[in-house]
Amino acid sequence: MSLGAQHSEVVIIGGGLAGLACAVTLADREIPVTLFESRPRLGGRASSFEDKQSQHLIDNCQHVSMGCCHEFNRFCETVGIADSFHREKQLYFIGPETPGSVSTEQPFKVNRFAANPLLPAPLHLLPAFGGLSYLSWQEKIGLARGLKQLALTTVDELNEPTIAAWLAEQEQTQNTIDRFWNVVLVSALSERLDRISLSHARKVFVDGFLRARNNWNVLIPTVPLEQLYGETILKRLQDQDAIVYLQTGVSRIELEDNRVIGVQLRDGRQIACERAVIAVPHQRVLELLPESFEGHDHLAGIEQLEAAPITSVHLWFDREITKLPHAVFVDCLSQWMFNRTRIMRQSTEQGYYYQIVISASHDLTGQARQGRTQADIIDAVIEELSRIWPETKQAQLKHSRMVTEHQAVFSVTPGVEQLRPSQRTEVAGLYLAGDWTSTGWPATMEGAVRSGLQAAEFLLSDLGQPESLLLTRENTSILSKILFRL
Ligand SMILES: Cc1cc2nc3c(=O)[nH]c(=O)nc-3n(C[C@H](O)[C@H](O)[C@H](O)COP(=O)(O)OP(=O)(O)OC[C@H]3O[C@@H](n4cnc5c(N)ncnc54)[C@H](O)[C@@H]3O)c2cc1C
Repeated sequence: MSLGAQHSEVVIIGGGLAGLACAVTLADREIPVTLFESRPRLGGRASSFEDKQSQHLIDNCQHVSMGCCHEFNRFCETVGIADSFHREKQLYFIGPETPGSVSTEQPFKVNRFAANPLLPAPLHLLPAFGGLSYLSWQEKIGLARGLKQLALTTVDELNEPTIAAWLAEQEQTQNTIDRFWNVVLVSALSERLDRISLSHARKVFVDGFLRARNNWNVLIPTVPLEQLYGETILKRLQDQDAIVYLQTGVSRIELEDNRVIGVQLRDGRQIACERAVIAVPHQRVLELLPESFEGHDHLAGIEQLEAAPITSVHLWFDREITKLPHAVFVDCLSQWMFNRTRIMRQSTEQGYYYQIVISASHDLTGQARQGRTQADIIDAVIEELSRIWPETKQAQLKHSRMVTEHQAVFSVTPGVEQLRPSQRTEVAGLYLAGDWTSTGWPATMEGAVRSGLQAAEFLLSDLGQPESLLLTRENTSILSKILFRL
């Protein structure tokens, strides 16, 4: 689309979920919006690309939501994509058949993990935890004690330990840490336990497992992310008369007397506007603003945000190696397996497609610098799958690829909340959105959508149309309120 009008009331810079949530919300209220996205597609870090060899549109990495991601799930309903997620009410944890030390010979067991229909939250998952084959009874009792203590803990965010330090203080055994705390937290927060803050770890367990019955459910997209965000939301925005320009990067925000007067595009064109929402990754924010913003109080913290990598290994076999739709691995390099062929009900002409996710893949990126090749890592993953599903040994690998997003998420280190800025800035007409802004959530699709809604709330209020856009109350079970004072 060519740039006809050179003026827009609101310009949104960045077409990730934060920018999209903000754009949809404003356009729904008939506020003229123009969105600029530098890449050829929408979705930002949650997007797909075409894999030439398999001819599949594959996601840069499997993205899942949870039942507790209320704003994201509501946004999906608003834009009409909620039906493209499958809600998993059963998880498959694959770990050693018995507690005790690991040996390469020890067989693996599939532990089905589901809520008990008769028990109210937070007791609904107790039988599932109790059934895990790879923890002893003493460890399970210690784990229950640890979870209860975590829920009851009041965290001082100005002076908090890492979850690793807290677990050591609580005398959780190494086996429980490796096989439980590590498994849940690394995949939820994409960081190592010695870098995760106590408050973020607590949020995962309280919001995900203890607060309400269905919060722990995992929602998996059944179509490529491009179809969700790139096509459906793009069409939705266009139907609302919002203007979206792809492959159109913004180079600078124009300010005069501490107020926004326009933006300059990378191709040199100028667009006049009274309001701009910066919805780019935090590493890209300062380059859009005058140099005087470096060290500016409001944005000083973002330069200190650290990033964590996520690696995905995509494998196409000539046969099905397991019928399970997904699996969570314990004591393995691989953390999650997604059976994409089954989840997407895809044709098997190009092979059976599995995706393995390794979050907080610091070790892999470090080893890559020391010469460990992608082929070595793919071999190690296949070797692991062969131990779990012996059919893998007979299967022929038709194609593989590995994708590492080095700056996948910001690290939820202790003190990180003090570094995250509000969506409202001190410049008139300038707003921020992005998973890195102050939402209290880690870097997730939920955090991104919340930030977009929060930016829209501030903007609407400045326009004299105040409105509360976020759900105000958590749906907490009565027993959880009594037991944990939630
Ligand atoms: C590998 C990986 C796995 C993940 N897994 C999950 C998961 O399972 N569940 C989950 O909830 N979250 C997951 N996340 C996190 C989630 O993807 C992000 O938190 C979320 O998508 C961030 O959205 P955003 O809009 O804040 O930022 P982004 O998605 O980064 O969007 C910013 C956009 O701004 C654009 N941009 C940058 N500069 C400019 C410019 N100058 N002009 C115009 N446009 C510009 C970028 O191209 C980009 O599209 C994962 C992330 C990664 C990378």
